[in-house]
Amino acid sequence: VVEVLTTVGAMRAALSEWRRAAKTVGFVPTMGYLHDGHLALVRRAGQENDIVVASIFVNPLQFGPKEDLARYPRDFERDSKLLEAAGVTAIFYPDASEMYPPDFSTSVEVSRVSEGLEGGVRPGHFRGVATVVSKLFNIVTADKAYFGQKDAQQIAVIKRMVRDLNFGIEIVVCPTVREKDGLAMSSRNVYLSAEERRAAPVLRIALEAAARLWHEAPEQRNGENLRKIMQAVLDSESLANPDYVSAADPASLQEYAAEIPSGNGVLLSLAVRFGATRLIDNMLIEG
Ligand code: AMP
Repeated sequence: VVEVLTTVGAMRAALSEWRRAAKTVGFVPTMGYLHDGHLALVRRAGQENDIVVASIFVNPLQFGPKEDLARYPRDFERDSKLLEAAGVTAIFYPDASEMYPPDFSTSVEVSRVSEGLEGGVRPGHFRGVATVVSKLFNIVTADKAYFGQKDAQQIAVIKRMVRDLNFGIEIVVCPTVREKDGLAMSSRNVYLSAEERRAAPVLRIALEAAARLWHEAPEQRNGENLRKIMQAVLDSESLANPDYVSAADPASLQEYAAEIPSGNGVLLSLAVRFGATRLIDNMLIEG
């Protein structure tokens, strides 16, 4: 059965045993309420490592004061069964006081790639993400860590942090797992009303429209046209309230103004509110 470790000390003890036995370790950090997107990361980690550790921690530092921390969905019993079935060796499941003592004083700030998109709408979000991921990488000293393309800016932030601070861990990016109708799987999808759920695939439809423009009309490939076509698709859905629509350089995440340098790809990304629920999605087109 899967081991559940709730303290930093217990997690470190398990790791030193695996290290003594020369096992490779893959790590999948999550906030729980797992779906097939998370489980795809776990399965990939299992293919590439002897040991797989998943963490479940709803990180208070990455939620803004008006965000959904208190109502973020949680179901540890179900999650632990899913992780066990997917072949996880151990679950790191600390509570907030284990991670953040009352006089916790340190944060990790990744500038530049944190600033636009999600970072623009959610001030402090990526400081919370970078801080908790640093802690988790120091606690679960893995060979590789697995992240989903679903959170494209998070990947850019973590890769930059790992490079800049010389974390000795390899970041592996896994494709976004979707529902049959194209909606990206997310723990937050349970917040959607039936009507909102029917409307939600509009994110993917908007991304596909921009991708079609990219591939079928190369002469029209510029930031403005790509944003305009996504915006037009979102405008056709009255329940969708966009926070941002972006066509950006995949490396710097700088918004493309007009011309896109040839050979550069594009990261198309969207954040859209449906009532109180905020969904994000993206599509990476390589250059
Ligand atoms: P979360 O629990 O939402 O913090 O997500 C934990 C990890 O799962 C992150 O690396 C996410 O990018 C990844 N993830 C979430 N949803 C998906 C999805 N639909 N497909 C692939 N990866 C995902």
